[in-house]
Amino acid sequence: MAVRAVRAVVVPAVGAPLEITGIDLPDPGPGQVRIRLAAAGVCHSDLSLSDGTLRVPVPAVLGHEGAGTVVTVGEGVTHLAPGDGVVLNWAPSCGTCHPCSLGEVWLCADALSGAADVHAHRADDGTGLHPGLNVAAFAEETVVPASCVLPAPDGVPLTDAALLGCAVLTGYGAVHHAAKVRPGETVAVFGVGGVGLATLQAARIAGASKIVAVDVSPEKEELARAAGATDYVLASDTTAREIRALTGKQGVDVAVECVGRAVTIRTAWESTRRGGRTTVVGIGGKDQQVTFNALEIFHWGRTLSGCVYGNANPAEDLPVLAEHIRAGRLDLGALVTEHIALDGIPAAFENMRAGKGGRALVVF
Ligand SMILES: [Zn+2]
Ligand SMILES: [Zn+2]
Repeated sequence: MAVRAVRAVVVPAVGAPLEITGIDLPDPGPGQVRIRLAAAGVCHSDLSLSDGTLRVPVPAVLGHEGAGTVVTVGEGVTHLAPGDGVVLNWAPSCGTCHPCSLGEVWLCADALSGAADVHAHRADDGTGLHPGLNVAAFAEETVVPASCVLPAPDGVPLTDAALLGCAVLTGYGAVHHAAKVRPGETVAVFGVGGVGLATLQAARIAGASKIVAVDVSPEKEELARAAGATDYVLASDTTAREIRALTGKQGVDVAVECVGRAVTIRTAWESTRRGGRTTVVGIGGKDQQVTFNALEIFHWGRTLSGCVYGNANPAEDLPVLAEHIRAGRLDLGALVTEHIALDGIPAAFENMRAGKGGRALVVF
């Protein structure tokens, strides 16, 4: 099989330091596409894959939020051609499983099957590499099933479009699909990273009357306000009380948790008004046990829900997001706090661990 060496970020084993190394990429097989990446966002889920919070086979090439240009297409791919701009979709759907048949494509039971057939190898010793979250976007080029590729929207630079593949779809979907925020409702967003910033912008687009951002870092207030926050609360033991004070003692109509920690989920729940909705976007570990007493579940009448990939259908939502971008309602540049090269990813992981910054974007 023909191969071509490209540079990539590899997690060699769970918890091991990242390696920036040459990999051999196979030519695209039937139904596959080779993409040259223009940009890739560094998402907290990449960190979760590398530290074992999310389990995937290793060694793996990380990166799942990317956009680029088609280089070559495999046999049977007729809807894409070399030169086409594309956004990577790490959660492709089969269209036939039970969730897909109900329209819940983000829960596709078969989402991972095609990508498992694409095996890159380490250039130095030939070790097989798995595509981390299907698309292996932390590489100069990648080969993916055609189902992992969506046409890039017109009028949006590919470097911006990369963010559509995870953070923006997730944040927008949390507000519009999962929580279904209505105009005039109040919203609190916990965690001001890339997804949190996208969630704040989505709440603004939805016409929320008050948007409270919560984070442990005072340095994120400016970013949060630029993304639509009307109020900023520094996370503490009294966060829920402060949010109730900001909302006529009621609590917010909708709380969106973008952290994935038990204490934050519990605070988001307590910040939600009676009858309101608490939506958990953050991905936590099994050690994060959240407890509720039976009486409060009855008394508060709240809805607590999870949210996977924004409960979105990427093929339908990307054109909608593109319209918001072109109209100036969605500002992708405001999510990015750092432009880096591939070798800047380990430092970007450290910043995420320390809760610093918004999105770091790898520009190739
Ligand atoms: Zn992600
Ligand atoms: Zn399916």
